[in-house]
Amino acid sequence: SADSAYHYPLLIKQLLTSQQRFETGNEIVSGPHRFSYAEFNQRICRLANALKAAGIGPGDTVAVMDWDSHRYLECFFAVPMVGAILHTVNIRLSPGQILYTMNHAEDDLVLVHDDFVPIIDGIKDELKTVKGYIQLTDDAQVTSSEFDSLGEYEALLAQSDTHYDFPDFDENSIATTFYTTGTTGNPKGVFFSHRQLVLHTLNMVNALQSNNNERALMNHESVYMPITPMFHVHAWGIPYVATMMGVQQIYPLRYEPNNLTRLIREEKVTFSHCVPTILQMVMQSSEAADTNFDGWQVIIGGSALTPGLARQAIEQGIEPFSAYGMSETCPLMSMTRMDPDRRALPEDEQISWRTKAGLPTDLCDIQIWTPDGKVQPNDGKSSGELVVRAPWLTQSYLNEPEKGAELWENGWLHTGDIAVLHPDGCVEIKDRIKDVIKTGGEWISSLELERLISQHPDVDSVSVVGVPDERWGERPFAMIIPRTDVLELDNIQAHLQQYVEDGTINKWAIPRKIQLVNDIPKTSVGKIDKKRIRAQLSEA
Ligand code: ADP
Repeated sequence: SADSAYHYPLLIKQLLTSQQRFETGNEIVSGPHRFSYAEFNQRICRLANALKAAGIGPGDTVAVMDWDSHRYLECFFAVPMVGAILHTVNIRLSPGQILYTMNHAEDDLVLVHDDFVPIIDGIKDELKTVKGYIQLTDDAQVTSSEFDSLGEYEALLAQSDTHYDFPDFDENSIATTFYTTGTTGNPKGVFFSHRQLVLHTLNMVNALQSNNNERALMNHESVYMPITPMFHVHAWGIPYVATMMGVQQIYPLRYEPNNLTRLIREEKVTFSHCVPTILQMVMQSSEAADTNFDGWQVIIGGSALTPGLARQAIEQGIEPFSAYGMSETCPLMSMTRMDPDRRALPEDEQISWRTKAGLPTDLCDIQIWTPDGKVQPNDGKSSGELVVRAPWLTQSYLNEPEKGAELWENGWLHTGDIAVLHPDGCVEIKDRIKDVIKTGGEWISSLELERLISQHPDVDSVSVVGVPDERWGERPFAMIIPRTDVLELDNIQAHLQQYVEDGTINKWAIPRKIQLVNDIPKTSVGKIDKKRIRAQLSEA
């Protein structure tokens, strides 16, 4: 080994080195605030000093309960940069689950927005490790005087010094932690080191910047607005990318559909990412009628983008892409890549490409395994569980090594998703293992049925689950939000019959029951919640 003074750990602070030298004129916008990058850099130092004054040091955990804001972005940097661990609290969990996660992560300090003070008030006495609170407020006037905190965020920053010497330390130190949405049992904590977040950021930069040719998803002209919550997988880590590149960033606070649409229009947002239901919400907001979405590029992830939704988006001038990932994978594994050849394809073929999970990104080693661990060929047909190795995957579950060992069985991270790899490298997610419908010895992909049903012009959105059936084991059941009031079971069955005839599905895949609804149950991050749908059905 070389005996050298050269030592450069990969730390989050290094994502800022270029912005500290080179001021782009771009801003970080949130509510009434508009900060330059020079101000942003100063604010990170101020926050670091405020954290130090609150007794926070290396190894401590700082929890944040906030909407997507400039404050959250500042915490993404300052908290890990002082050597502490950032716990991004999922504010959509039940108070009981929030309490569980905060005790489990051993939070020392909590930064809490006014809107979540009632939750804290309810659980405060049971929080075992918390020593103090900092209050976050969107309106300088509002302070709930009952609440005993160290002070209000802006006031604390204003009185803190603008200089802080961020130290070097081990790149394997934990930088962030957060909890899976807990569809079964208690939420599980995943965690990521400085090194992992830096490598994920570089990977994401390449996936965005080298994509779509001259219309790159992210370059210096981009205006970026995340619409996946910052508490969930660091908003896919893209705020780190945008900040490293110094682009114009818009943080929308609450996800109110008209507010989101107005921001897209008025701030001329060029790039966002969200789950399918949020895209739908934006396109259907009343403000959408007065909004020209032309040039808005959106990556859909967290759930599959259906061809039906992709077509609606394209009709409104939006350019949709897909990405695949999960909490455990930081999250990026694969993304739609567009190049001139793909852009020249007819619309239907483009939609088919854009709605698959895309190509594995750099350094992401993806395989498809049979249940006995045999590696499947990438022939577009042989399916199995998608397993992955990459430098930025959670090493385990926080304080739950047995569950971590299960996740990492045989040295590969098990996603719980069934997929095929196509000869051109494209990943196609078929279903989650737990959502596959097993009927009369056949396996039916609920996702594929959703894709097909979504193409019926009278369907707005759809979720398919298996319901127990004495004779067949399970049969598919479709819950549909109609676009029109003429839709009936017969229309759906007739629509699906064409796919039985062309061999896409077998006749057992045609649902015998559909339910027309105004709303489909969603998880804490806005995805369709199949567990709740199944529970509702078994109660009925
Ligand atoms: P949860 O399991 O609570 O939904 P995650 O946000 O980690 O938590 O979800 C990850 C899962 O979402 C993946 O394992 C996969 O099933 C699904 N998913 C994510 N992206 C896509 C995509 N582009 N297409 C299909 N499914 C996806």
